[in-house]
Amino acid sequence: MDCIFCKIVSGDIPSNKVYEDDKILAFRDLNPEAPEHILVIPKEHIASLKEANESHLELLGYIQLKIAEIAGSLGIAESGFRLVANTGDEGGQTVHHLHYHLLGGRFMKWPPG
Ligand code: 5GP
Ligand code: ZN
Repeated sequence: MDCIFCKIVSGDIPSNKVYEDDKILAFRDLNPEAPEHILVIPKEHIASLKEANESHLELLGYIQLKIAEIAGSLGIAESGFRLVANTGDEGGQTVHHLHYHLLGGRFMKWPPG
C-alpha cells in the first residue's frame, strides 16, 4: 500500500522514534509546529477516525493512554500539551493513516486556524 506512515512502520522510510511497541509508534514530525511535535500512530493502517470502528475500541483507548505517558516522558505532561487528530479534507488531514499530533513546549492558542 502506498502509505507514508505504513512505510515508516515497516522502516522503509526512516523516522526519529520516541516510542514504539507492538501496537503503536510515536515519532517526531518532519515539520514541527511546536518545540515538541510528535506523531502517534497505530501500526495497523486505519485511514482516519472516520474509518475506525468498534473493533478498534481497545486500540483507540490504548493509544490515548500511551500518548499521556509519552507526554510525561517528554516533560510536557505538567506544563500541558495538545492532542489533535486532523480528519478529512476540511479537518486538514494530508496523510491518510490515522495519526495524533502531540504538541507541547509552548503555549497553544485557541481556536486553531
Ligand atoms: P496531517 O496534515 O495529515 O494532520 O499531518 C501529517 C503530518 O505528517 C504533517 O505534520 C507532516 O509534517 C508530517 N509528515 C509528512 N510526511 C512525513 C514523513 O515522511 N516523516 C515525518 N516524520 N513526518 C511527516
Ligand atoms: Zn498506512
